Amino acid sequence: MVEITIRKRSRTDATDNQRKFFKKTARGKVLKVIRERYLRDDVSCGIEGCSACPMINGTVLPANGLSGHGLAPSGHFVLPDTNVFLHQMDLIESNLFNPPLILLQTVLEEVRHRSLPLYSRLKALVKAEDKKIHVFYNEFRTETSIVRQDAETPNDRNDRGIRTGAAWYSTHIAETHQPARGSSRSSHPVVFLMTDDAANRRLAEQEGVRCVSVRQYVDGMRDPSVLLDLLSAAGTDDIEPTRATMSRAAIYPEYLPMSTLTAGVAAGKLHQGHFNANQYNYLEGSVSVPAFTKPIALFGRQHMNRAVQGDIVVVEVLPESEWKAPADAVVDQESHLATLQNDDPDESEEEGSDQEAANEEKAERILVSKREIQDGASQKQPTGRLVGVIKRNWRAYVCHIDSASLSSSSSTSLSQQTVFATPVSRLLPRIRIRTRQAPALLGQKILVTIDRWESTSRYPEGHFVRSLGKAESKEAEQESLLLEYEVPYRPFGKAVLDCLPTHGDAWVVPPKTTDSAEWRDREDLRDVLVCSIDPPGCQDIDDALHARPLPNGNIEAGVHIADVSHFVLPDNPMDSEAASRGTTVYLVDKRIDMLPALLGTNLCSLRPHVERLAFSVIWELTSDAQIVNVRFTKSVIASKAAFTYEEAQVRKDDSKLQDDLTKSIRLLNHLAGKLRAGRMAAGALNLASPEVKIHLDSAESSDPIDVEQKEQRETNSLVEEFMLLANISVARQIQESFPQTAVLRRHLPPPRTNFEKLQDILQKRKGMTLDVSSSGALAASLDKCIDPDEPAFNTLVRIMATRCMLSAEYFCSGSVGRDTFGHYGLASPIYTHFTSPIRRYADVLAHRQLAASINYEPLHASLHSKSHVERVLQVVNRRHRMAQMAGRASVEFYVGLALKARGLRDGHVMDVQEEAFVIRTFRNGLGVFVSKLGIEGLVMFKRETTFDADNYIISVPAVDGREVKIAVFDKVTVRIKVEKDKNTQRGTVKMTLVSPIDSSGL
Ligand SMILES: [Zn+2]
Repeated sequence: MVEITIRKRSRTDATDNQRKFFKKTARGKVLKVIRERYLRDDVSCGIEGCSACPMINGTVLPANGLSGHGLAPSGHFVLPDTNVFLHQMDLIESNLFNPPLILLQTVLEEVRHRSLPLYSRLKALVKAEDKKIHVFYNEFRTETSIVRQDAETPNDRNDRGIRTGAAWYSTHIAETHQPARGSSRSSHPVVFLMTDDAANRRLAEQEGVRCVSVRQYVDGMRDPSVLLDLLSAAGTDDIEPTRATMSRAAIYPEYLPMSTLTAGVAAGKLHQGHFNANQYNYLEGSVSVPAFTKPIALFGRQHMNRAVQGDIVVVEVLPESEWKAPADAVVDQESHLATLQNDDPDESEEEGSDQEAANEEKAERILVSKREIQDGASQKQPTGRLVGVIKRNWRAYVCHIDSASLSSSSSTSLSQQTVFATPVSRLLPRIRIRTRQAPALLGQKILVTIDRWESTSRYPEGHFVRSLGKAESKEAEQESLLLEYEVPYRPFGKAVLDCLPTHGDAWVVPPKTTDSAEWRDREDLRDVLVCSIDPPGCQDIDDALHARPLPNGNIEAGVHIADVSHFVLPDNPMDSEAASRGTTVYLVDKRIDMLPALLGTNLCSLRPHVERLAFSVIWELTSDAQIVNVRFTKSVIASKAAFTYEEAQVRKDDSKLQDDLTKSIRLLNHLAGKLRAGRMAAGALNLASPEVKIHLDSAESSDPIDVEQKEQRETNSLVEEFMLLANISVARQIQESFPQTAVLRRHLPPPRTNFEKLQDILQKRKGMTLDVSSSGALAASLDKCIDPDEPAFNTLVRIMATRCMLSAEYFCSGSVGRDTFGHYGLASPIYTHFTSPIRRYADVLAHRQLAASINYEPLHASLHSKSHVERVLQVVNRRHRMAQMAGRASVEFYVGLALKARGLRDGHVMDVQEEAFVIRTFRNGLGVFVSKLGIEGLVMFKRETTFDADNYIISVPAVDGREVKIAVFDKVTVRIKVEKDKNTQRGTVKMTLVSPIDSSGL
């Protein structure tokens, strides 16, 4: 039996060992908390069969470590420092990297403080079965716990703690591993302190600890080649720079010191914001900052100074005399570079590619000078240059290897070469990586991270992480898309699944009894004629409705929402997972759920003919849809039917049907019409975004067979109106109950400058005016943008106007001014999301707040905390945006496949031609929108054209010497081909003009 002794430190130590901090309770009271550490002698080393330590469950470190490494043939353990985990996680995650690892508590906590995403990756590794990682609680063990000394920085203290831990393991192993008879004393396994900090290595070696750098360690492994590719150059001097970066001359200006940046921003001399790359022109970017209504433009590489999409940067604004307008040409990195001398990834900028640099600079100068000649002063934009980076937004990017950059493509060549990885996203620069697998990776989708970008290097440097599979295969494309938009898509872990009801899919609403927890304070609405109306094939049914006449002539209408917060309790692993996923993501052929399927498509889904728990909003309305009163209640419902929009529509329109359920739909429809009219009168906008529907061949093959525009039925609008009404009613209720922390959603009015360009185009091309003074005025003037010959024109203008707006966002009611709560598009003074808790996390929070507001249960402390709500909503807002983009990209990919299929009908290659509207003009091309397919494309002209930027007209010379004028809003016919895009290595849509002029030769 193991005896456990708990011993307090001696008094003098104990004072140092106390950790004091202040904690604010949910009610705002401040408590002083003192934590004392209790030191123990029985914290296990985690090595199998150790004679001195207590046995613990799940011991993972083999008795003799791992043998066969070049530096320690007879066995070793690795104890990495914090930076190894911060910089080399890709290596550690690799299944080829499998030494037994000792993870000190000190290291684990430092990782947690420095990066939460890396911390979660590390925790997942600790649990992974194929990894041997032992967490050693060094701060709790007497011999390894240390106290910070007076002159020591926290960093130095931790470094010393890590060295102490490593030294202890060495001694401990020597003491507990008795040499086998006849073998030498030194045959016991060694412990390597793995660190890339040379100074720390020196100190450790003085203290008798064996050290190794990451590079040295991997070099000594049996088959290092694949692992060496995974090494990050960040945080180490041990990985020599690529030849290209060794030139001494800086290409880019150095950044200002952080203190100068923060002082400059505070004084208003410098400006801080997110860097946005221009998708049409890789030599331009911009930064939106509070001090200017227009974003600050950065022209050319020098002024963009190594910023990457999404970085938080600091810019200096140039004197107004140097301000310029954005270039009006499309400048594509790939084709631009192709016209220059080929870029050698291993060439230093100073030596070989002087010519290239000169060419590129010349091209840049031409663009800039053209820009100056053409400028109307009105289009000038504040112009600046980047002087520093506050925070990088680097992550893993989906790329492919640029085949032209390979020095040897022979598949037997295993020598390391430096190649360019081209990201799928047009917003990112090419990345230099070193790999031994280049020939094998050609034609694959790969994941690459950026490690560093020195001022001496034209391009950033990074490393290969893993391959996603063959480009254009559905699996690789789907995973690329999820990675590109940072959608968490791993299956739910055990801790999450453990939070599900133990009965699993056998769970049912228990019989109605007075002592049933489920039935407590719930209304029995099982007899009410409730039904759901959704798109075909909907499995996660969040909402159901009913309406019935009341004796007093008014109407009772109810919206019943899945009671997700009954199953998802605050602060458990399932709740945290849902919060970090933020939303369910819908791709064309896949759904990535926010909640485990048992809840989403079963227990919470309001399926027909089964009893389900719901949260109901019930109104009494006049027949004019005026609210007489509203109440909120937890309920039990039993839906009578699940209709598709089409089925509900048919049923409503069939005058022979006079049953109560059909009457209920008619009543709802009548009210929805009134509600809609009321909203429109209040100035709500009828916005549009291109929406198409993809027909898949079958669920398994998921080959798209065709694309069609989505149809809107009356019943879509029926459901929409009632969901809006429920959301607004709930928003009012939770805002009244929790004025500081209500979870709300708003849509800020767009800055007027956003519409300037569209207004100008409409005025000049069509003589139409857009009044943007209020949402009502905008709605009215959008209604007047009608071309009698062109019914699709109005939708086109609505799509373009929608793009000028800001996106809606979740916010915490106490964090912004009361006068900014409004939802511009809906013309509602207050709004939230309540109606889709299965697939949106904000709705789960609104449910909890609503439940507390009717005294169903107390509000969890976290929802009383403004900073907590803000933090959660920040994540949810981001996930929401990403999910929308991922969904759109997925549709685009399938439209491409469908077009390809259409172009190859019956085995013949056929021309696909469609009508399109011109939506943008460039000096060298047109932006067009094909409404039938919901896609946008570029038509590029190689030949010189005449461009009238002021009037949005481009004149293209025809073969017979005529000039053909094409302007924004013109209707043209385009030929659409699917070609393999050099950037994405996937089939993308290429367009050429058919009429008014055939541009295939131009
Ligand atoms: Zn031990």
